[in-house]
Amino acid sequence: MLYRSLNGHHKKVNFETAVKNGLAEDGGLFFPEKISPINNEFIKNLDKYSNIDIAHEVIKQFIGDSINEKDLKEILSNTVDFDFPLIDLGNNIYSLELFHGPTLAFKDVGARFMANCLGYFNKNKNITNTVLVATSGDTGAAVANGFFKVKGTNVIILYPENKVSEIQERQLTTNGNNITALRVKGSFDDCQDMVKKAFLDKELNNKFNLTSANSINVARWLPQAFYYFYAVKKLKKKNLVFSVPSGNFGNICAGIIAMKLGLPIDHFVASTNVNDTIPRYFKSKVLSPKPTIQTISNAMDVSNPSNFIRIQEMFENFDTLSSFLSSYSFDDYQTLEIVKEIYNNKNYIMDPHGAVGYLGLKKYLKNKPNKIGVFLETAHPIKFSKHIENTIDVKLKIPKKINKILSKNKKYIDIENYNDFKKKILNMF
Ligand SMILES: *Cc1c(COP(=O)(O)O)cnc(C)c1O
Repeated sequence: MLYRSLNGHHKKVNFETAVKNGLAEDGGLFFPEKISPINNEFIKNLDKYSNIDIAHEVIKQFIGDSINEKDLKEILSNTVDFDFPLIDLGNNIYSLELFHGPTLAFKDVGARFMANCLGYFNKNKNITNTVLVATSGDTGAAVANGFFKVKGTNVIILYPENKVSEIQERQLTTNGNNITALRVKGSFDDCQDMVKKAFLDKELNNKFNLTSANSINVARWLPQAFYYFYAVKKLKKKNLVFSVPSGNFGNICAGIIAMKLGLPIDHFVASTNVNDTIPRYFKSKVLSPKPTIQTISNAMDVSNPSNFIRIQEMFENFDTLSSFLSSYSFDDYQTLEIVKEIYNNKNYIMDPHGAVGYLGLKKYLKNKPNKIGVFLETAHPIKFSKHIENTIDVKLKIPKKINKILSKNKKYIDIENYNDFKKKILNMF
């Protein structure tokens, strides 16, 4: 299977090239040339297969002959070696917890998969890939963790100053070795724009083999389809609706890929914070991003979601798109109110992102009693302990995985704008 550019360039590339280049030559996102449904018997019997076998079945067509079966299974066993619990909250509502990986947010799966693939491609070569990643908090942490000391890789993380939580900032800035953190004056969208600009910059490309570890990279994006299979494996139910707290729309786009592969899902809800470009699109049919607004669900502070174009690609027109996808936005007040309510009524603690997912699910399911709803709980509440502890008056226990980074010193380089960024990385490496 090959990948084509969504900007229309005629050249098609295999998985290895798509991963190493990040974006197509014309700056477009790569998209699979073809999506072939998985054998229906396999999907009906998901509970008979291990998570690694399911991951293999889901991903193999997108890898083609870039990685052989044995090595791919080995990579997958390094990628999904933790649990994805499904918590029953009653009234046909479930929380799919995706934060049990090393950095406590769902991005660990994609980041680890991509790191393992690049390490594999560069195994016996004398090549260094420079991985550029813009982060609103969790991506950078997962990428730093996944790529730490991976041979043949240098990672440069761009994060917006004062817009990530304390734990997130420590996860980004305390690694050292092949990981460098850049603290950017601006928003996540500014960081993302710098990354996109760098890819089109001849001078940088002549010096570095640049690639991106954002969900624009197919190796980061596609493995996120596994979550939906794992949920269906556990639930074994029909009439499923998934609500996905969405920022750059990579995770929900992977969910739609899962549906296209034959997973029985009725509907998706893209739940956003007040960065509501997509909820507004569903009302007006016009995409008109506004400046990014800072919220407590900061990993979703994105106003120009890169992956939405991939979602549009999978539906013929606006009407078919709207029949499978709804999108709603919620503010910080509503988010914290529902955190309080669910804690008081169900004794369950949501993080602000999961809470936005829950709100979107409830809104869509109103007057649909026959549907089963799953919202994705994308981060551990401890990452946002300040807001959660102020809201529900509990002291959250710090997980062991986090404890050891809290005493380490933060190291970062301040960046003013694109020219400053370019000058500094050209001098640094
Ligand atoms: C990245 C992130 C999101 C948004 O995911 P997208 O794929 O960018 O839509 C939601 N929640 C958390 C905790 C995240 O880290």
